[in-house]
Amino acid sequence: MKILAVTDETVECLYPLAASGHFADVELILSCGDLPYTYLEYLVTLLNVPLCYVPGNHDPEYNPRVAASCAEGCENLDGRVARVRGLTLAGLGGSPRYHPRGVNQYTQSEMRRRAWGLVPSLLWSRLRHGRRLDILITHSPPFGIHDEDTQAHRGLRAINWLIRWAKPRYHLHGHVHFFRRNLTPSVTRLGPTKIINVFPYQVIEFQ
Ligand SMILES: [Zn+2]
Repeated sequence: MKILAVTDETVECLYPLAASGHFADVELILSCGDLPYTYLEYLVTLLNVPLCYVPGNHDPEYNPRVAASCAEGCENLDGRVARVRGLTLAGLGGSPRYHPRGVNQYTQSEMRRRAWGLVPSLLWSRLRHGRRLDILITHSPPFGIHDEDTQAHRGLRAINWLIRWAKPRYHLHGHVHFFRRNLTPSVTRLGPTKIINVFPYQVIEFQ
């Protein structure tokens, strides 16, 4: 299955590519956050496949107190597990807390509690489907992997724990803008999990 993953930055060239059928064999779109909902809505309308996303810390329209504040026709996976296209997906949005009143920012222990909140659904998934998790999407990277040494861009340890415990095939994240492709890896393996910094978009072949 081909998956289009997007994050953090609107890529102008995706509009003509999507309109000309370049992504016709894509069966699922995943977004790791910090994107305008109009961009997600455009992609879901044009490709007509499910789109699941987590909010970042800079989603222009994101308001956790307003239930209707979600991208139309898309599924917000923040703090949830869902079965889509035969895959078990889980999502954790947000970034490390770096501002006292910042929206969708969490301390390491707050994020740990959010990760633990996924455990019952993932155990149920293993009972029903034989695997806990196929793809984990988060906005932030794990601690020590693709992260940076600043408060806003330090990785979240709860994600490392979740990867080690649930052993997803893929972990997709954004948040760290990645311009030095030849110097910094964007793909790292942790056990059976392939961790990918999606910035700004990737096409992934899920075997
Ligand atoms: Zn971000």
